[in-house]
Amino acid sequence: MSIIVKKFPVNPFPVNCFIVADEDTKQAAIIDPGYINDNERNLISDYIQTNDLKLKYVLLTHMHFDHVLALSDIKRMTGAPIYGAEEDLFLLKNASSQAASFGFKIDIEDTKVDHFLKDGDELHLGEYNIVAISVPGHSPGSIVYYIPKAGIMFAGDVLFRQSIGRTDLPGGDYNTLINGIKSKLLTLPDDTIVYSGHGAETTIGYEKKYNSFF
Ligand SMILES: [Zn+2]
Repeated sequence: MSIIVKKFPVNPFPVNCFIVADEDTKQAAIIDPGYINDNERNLISDYIQTNDLKLKYVLLTHMHFDHVLALSDIKRMTGAPIYGAEEDLFLLKNASSQAASFGFKIDIEDTKVDHFLKDGDELHLGEYNIVAISVPGHSPGSIVYYIPKAGIMFAGDVLFRQSIGRTDLPGGDYNTLINGIKSKLLTLPDDTIVYSGHGAETTIGYEKKYNSFF
């Protein structure tokens, strides 16, 4: 039994879109579908098909426009239900116009988020539990997806290698973010791998040692 993680850096910002899959059952989730062109879309759909994955969830770490650019497309392509936090819906409503200001033509404001996650909710990929950990502060509805049995988490823009998410955008709050990371993430095992929404991966132990925000 093992878990497979594949990273797709997408769009010019670039955002890390991930596919995480249980090798045994082929059940998979896509995290932050932010792809913007056919090339990026084909890489992802080819990966799903080549590996015979069954996409069970579309998981949003938060709803800033760069993380949701392909939300309606992935729904059309896979039919998989979308999960995220209700507190970020106001961001999704503005995402199309925000994207337009950067020259991206998308149409996602009517895309329905099928399930709202609360802190502690659990989803399943085969034998693996995915725990939704609410860590607001970068956005009010930021969720970290933690898979304890695999020792990995998908942190979105909450925690980066030697940095944290910006807190100057609507609904952001610095102290809330710092306190959330300290109490909910840095308390997890040191060898937990952190897959961030931008840039390289890190571990909880490395951040406890080298991240100057803590
Ligand atoms: Zn963000």
